[in-house]
Amino acid sequence: MKISHQKDDEPIQFVDLAAQRARLGDAIEVAISKVISHQQFIMGPEISQLEHLLAKFSGAKHAITCSSGTDALALLLLGFGIKPGDVVICPTFTFCATAEVIAWFGAIPLFVDVDLNTFNINPTDVQNAIDTAQNNGHKVTGIVSVDLFGRPADYKALEKLAKDNGKWLLCDAAQSFGASYNNRNVGTFGIATATSFFPAKPLGCYGDGGAIFTDDDKLASLVKSLRSHGKGEHKYDNIHIGMAARMDTIQAAILIEKISIFPEEIEKRRRIAEKYNNYFSNLTNVIPPSYHEGSTWAQYTIQVDPQKREAIQKTLRQEGIPTQIYYPIPLHRQKAYRSYPTLRKELPVSDQLAASVISLPIHPYISSKQQEYICQTIKKIVC
Ligand SMILES: *Cc1c(COP(=O)(O)O)cnc(C)c1O
Repeated sequence: MKISHQKDDEPIQFVDLAAQRARLGDAIEVAISKVISHQQFIMGPEISQLEHLLAKFSGAKHAITCSSGTDALALLLLGFGIKPGDVVICPTFTFCATAEVIAWFGAIPLFVDVDLNTFNINPTDVQNAIDTAQNNGHKVTGIVSVDLFGRPADYKALEKLAKDNGKWLLCDAAQSFGASYNNRNVGTFGIATATSFFPAKPLGCYGDGGAIFTDDDKLASLVKSLRSHGKGEHKYDNIHIGMAARMDTIQAAILIEKISIFPEEIEKRRRIAEKYNNYFSNLTNVIPPSYHEGSTWAQYTIQVDPQKREAIQKTLRQEGIPTQIYYPIPLHRQKAYRSYPTLRKELPVSDQLAASVISLPIHPYISSKQQEYICQTIKKIVC
C-alpha cells in the first residue's frame, strides 16, 4: 500500500514552533533584545508584567511564575508543609513529574487508575484510596489531579471529595493552562494549580518555565519566598528553606508576546480536534477521545488495536506523519516508582491506555489539507 504524499506540501510537524514564530513576526526577538538591553535577567520587570497577564487570563487571584512545571508542583508541596511518610494520591497514567515531586520529600505517591473516557484520575478510586490508606494507619494529606492532554479533571467530584475528606487538592495543569470546566478557568480549582511553559505545551516558552495559581494570599506569599531561597524582607534575610526556582526574565518576555495570540491558538486547536473527532467517529478500529470543548487539546490521542499500534506508527512515519506515544508505561510499572503503593494490584484502565494510545499532530498551524491527509492516511492504514 502506498499513499501519495504531495511533494510541494510543507512537512507535517508534531508541534510547529517555527510557524508560530513566523506568525509573531519579530516580536519575540524584539522582546528578548529589550531584556538584553535592560540587563535585569533575574526578576526583571517582565516577570510581574507576565504574572499580571496570567492572573487575568486564569481568573486566579495570584499567578506566580517559576522555573518549570515540576518546580511549580514542588514549591506548592513545600508550601503545604509536606512531610516524609505523608501519602498523596495521584494517577498512574501521567508524566513522571506528577509523582516525582511527591517522592522528593520522602512522601508516598499512592497510585490510582484513570477513567477510560477522560484519561483523568478516577474520583471513585480517589475515595477508595483515602479510605484504604487511612484504614491501614497511613496519613493521607492530599490529592494531585492531572488535566491529561489538556482536558480538565472531574473537578466537581474532586473538589467535593477533597472538602469532605479534609485533604488538599493540587491541580497539575501542566498540559491545560487555558482550559475551562463548567465556565471556570484552569487555575481556579483546588487549593492551587501548577502549570508548565515547556516549549511543547500549549503555551510554551523557549526553555523551562512554569507558574502557580492560587486564591490563597498566605500560600502565594510563601511560594514567592520559597522560589527565591526562602527570602524574607530581602535577599540575605532567610526565613524558609527554599529553592532556586525563579523564571528567567527572558522567558517571561517571550511569554508576554505568545500569550497575546494564545486565545486564538486555543480556538484553532479546538476546531482541529473537533474535525478529527468528526472524521474518526465514523471509522472502525479507531477510538477518538471524547470531545470536551473546554480542553486546550495539548494532545489529540486516539486508541488503536495494541497488536497493531507499532505497525501503524511506523507506516504513519513513512508517510510523513509524526506521532507520539503518551505514555507507554504507567508510573506504577516504572522502575523508579514500582516500590510505591497502588490502590489495587491492577490498574487496568491505565494499562489498557498505555498499550493502545497514539497521539496525532495537533497544533494551531496545521493546514486543512495536512489534516485531511492525516485523516485519510489513518483510514487507509487501519480500516
Ligand atoms: C510537562 C509536565 C510536567 C512538568 O513540567 P516541566 O515544565 O517539564 O517541568 C508535569 N506534569 C505533567 C502532567 C506534564 O505534562
